[in-house]
Amino acid sequence: MEFNIATIPGDGIGPDIVEQAINVLKQIGKKYKHNFNFTEVLAGGCAIDATGEPLPMQTIRTCQDSDSVLLGAVGGPKWDNLPGDKRPEKALLGLRSQLGLYANIRPAILHKSLKDACPLKPEIIGDGLDIVVVRELTGGIYFGKRGRMINNQGNEEAFDTLTYSIPEIERIAKSAFDIAIKRNKKVTSVDKANILESSRLWREIVTEVAKDYPEVALNHLYVDNAAMQLILNPKQFDVIITSNMFGDILSDEASMITGSIGMLPSASLGNDKTGLYEPIHGSAPDIAGQNKANPIATILSAAMMLRYSFTLEEEANVIENAVTKVLGSNYRTGDIMSSGMKEVGTKEMGELICKNL
Ligand code: NAD
Repeated sequence: MEFNIATIPGDGIGPDIVEQAINVLKQIGKKYKHNFNFTEVLAGGCAIDATGEPLPMQTIRTCQDSDSVLLGAVGGPKWDNLPGDKRPEKALLGLRSQLGLYANIRPAILHKSLKDACPLKPEIIGDGLDIVVVRELTGGIYFGKRGRMINNQGNEEAFDTLTYSIPEIERIAKSAFDIAIKRNKKVTSVDKANILESSRLWREIVTEVAKDYPEVALNHLYVDNAAMQLILNPKQFDVIITSNMFGDILSDEASMITGSIGMLPSASLGNDKTGLYEPIHGSAPDIAGQNKANPIATILSAAMMLRYSFTLEEEANVIENAVTKVLGSNYRTGDIMSSGMKEVGTKEMGELICKNL
């Protein structure tokens, strides 16, 4: 099969880690006889330097015409003082909206061999963790009407509004159930239905969508309880689905219990198969270009691309298993290094994963 992939190395460590993910994809292409065609485009700080814009039109067009997009990271101190709409991070919001991406998928996986990095007690995490947080990305309170006004008592007040429509909830719920069906067949929907009307509608619609997936178990948790349960008993979770703001907070909490930012991939998906795949970390300017960055989050993002955009489940599993094998053989980049382990750089880690595919 043939797939066109737009690549956006971006800034900082972006080029270092994207290079390794491309090598892994090329190796998978050889092994399974797929043609992956890569087109590199600019976004973020390097795009500002080259064109004056964080997200040039050419980049948007190439991404829209591609089967998927692989991104490293954008941003850095060089561009920190630019006005809001000219900052590198604007490229991410622009890409999400141009590609119609409304579902953010963030797996929080704690590998058995990295258990020591987890801040929770060993008896809580057992053999490791494997949770996916599905966050609604384009609605809710972050996109509602907001403003300030003077109230009847003459005091200034501010407001933000939280709205969700039935179609918005339906489509994100479907995304979560579609993912759960390929995993452990459990969805936990997180809301605040004891207080918020939008959460009551959320709960109703998620329950309705669940009827189309009889093999998937559904339960509901209030967000305050969900935040506690993630720490108390994270193994109860398979797929968590939640709104934009709750998902923002819970996905960070879930990733922190895995202990390492350099290990975690993410995907943003919409109605068609074109997704945006990127590590959850930033551009790490402190270690850029030094062969120190951990490329695993980006390599696992490429595996997610194979699974979710190209439905190449076996190939995705092969990449994930190769990562597990390399970690099991005690190879570590600096960020996940501990005593008795063998430290390697970005390139060596990429090569080891390629060898184990
Ligand atoms: P960061 O994630 O870049 O770095 C935080 C710390 O983690 C640093 O010490 C860094 O060296 C380390 N780190 C991150 N990724 C690593 C990896 N793969 N391997 C080894 N160590 C790694 O966060 P920050 O320092 O807050 O932000 C730096 C820049 O990145 C800022 O300009 C920020 O706006 C941008 N940023 C971009 C994205 C994105 O592109 N999606 C996300 C977050 C931050």
